[in-house]
Amino acid sequence: MSNAILIENKAASPIPETRSLPFGKIPTDHMFIAEYRDGSWHDARIVPFADLTLSPLALCLHYGQTVFEGMKAFLMENGKVNIFRPEKHHSRFCKSLDRLCMPEVPYDLFIQAIDGLVDLDRNWVPADNSDGSLYLRPFMIATEQRVGVKISDEYLFMVIATPAYAYYSEPLRVKIETNHARAAAGGTGAAKCGGNYGGSFYPAKKAQEEGFDQVIWTDSRTHSFIEESGTMNLIFYWNGKLVTPPLSGTILDGVTRDSLLTLAKDLGLEIEVRPIEWAELEEAFISGEKLEAFGAGTAAIIAPIKTINITGQDYDCYTGDDAVMYRLRDAISDVRLGKARDTHGWNHVI
Ligand SMILES: *Cc1c(COP(=O)(O)O)cnc(C)c1O
Repeated sequence: MSNAILIENKAASPIPETRSLPFGKIPTDHMFIAEYRDGSWHDARIVPFADLTLSPLALCLHYGQTVFEGMKAFLMENGKVNIFRPEKHHSRFCKSLDRLCMPEVPYDLFIQAIDGLVDLDRNWVPADNSDGSLYLRPFMIATEQRVGVKISDEYLFMVIATPAYAYYSEPLRVKIETNHARAAAGGTGAAKCGGNYGGSFYPAKKAQEEGFDQVIWTDSRTHSFIEESGTMNLIFYWNGKLVTPPLSGTILDGVTRDSLLTLAKDLGLEIEVRPIEWAELEEAFISGEKLEAFGAGTAAIIAPIKTINITGQDYDCYTGDDAVMYRLRDAISDVRLGKARDTHGWNHVI
């Protein structure tokens, strides 16, 4: 592949008001696309956002050979645009791709795609950076035309972008899920692949019908250990420590989780990464211990949890203004917006 990305520019359109719309409905003016065939990447280009033409035989439509990433660009205090931790997102993308037998995207191509698209659509990065950002969605799909089960020989790598605002507004009400599992040992739980999501809709829908916002996933074998909540990593603040389950093969290695744990260490907080049984939480709640619980992910940064339902009983988590989770949210936000020093080299400023 040559280094130059072709750019087909579109006359700038007026940017619609997206704050009031559901997340992810309105794409920016452009998209990045590159094609993999004969063992290498071809025709990398940024073009006006448009529909794809895809054969109904395309393998991705049948066997779920798709992988994606989710990352964000922010308008900094100094007016520059900051893409947060692209190296970490790229390395996870490559791990997911490897698990799904899909070809690697070299970092050069990945970052040229992201930089090129964000630069071209820079006026789409929300000006209100208190809760607005530009969400970036790199993804890859298998496009070989053949309905027979096989690893595809052809792929599309794309990047699209959409303005994003605070994802969950109210603290969540969640239940411990002990019938279904998101991921099983040896499966694809550590990969950010489409199929993981398709399979998680049913238990999430059931929980919503029972009045919950989301489930807390448990391990598939015993359903006694806590894994994640919905599509976010789960972190507790409890007994003066941040406590979170270890990255097993069934938990996604969240960039937000990693960033929050690192910043927590910087703030002098004690961190405990260990398996957590929901029975321990139940005991803690019954004995009146104060406990914070929150989801961590790129979309929401942190999503405070207000209520955890354990075997039919509601328990309240602490969500007061002085909660530690809000300090962590502010710490990560200050780095991204350039209000605090980027001591870990996370910001990619364009
Ligand atoms: C993407 C994702 C997360 C969060 O990862 P971030 O890198 O922090 O956005 C957590 N769990 C699942 C299942 C995910 O797909």
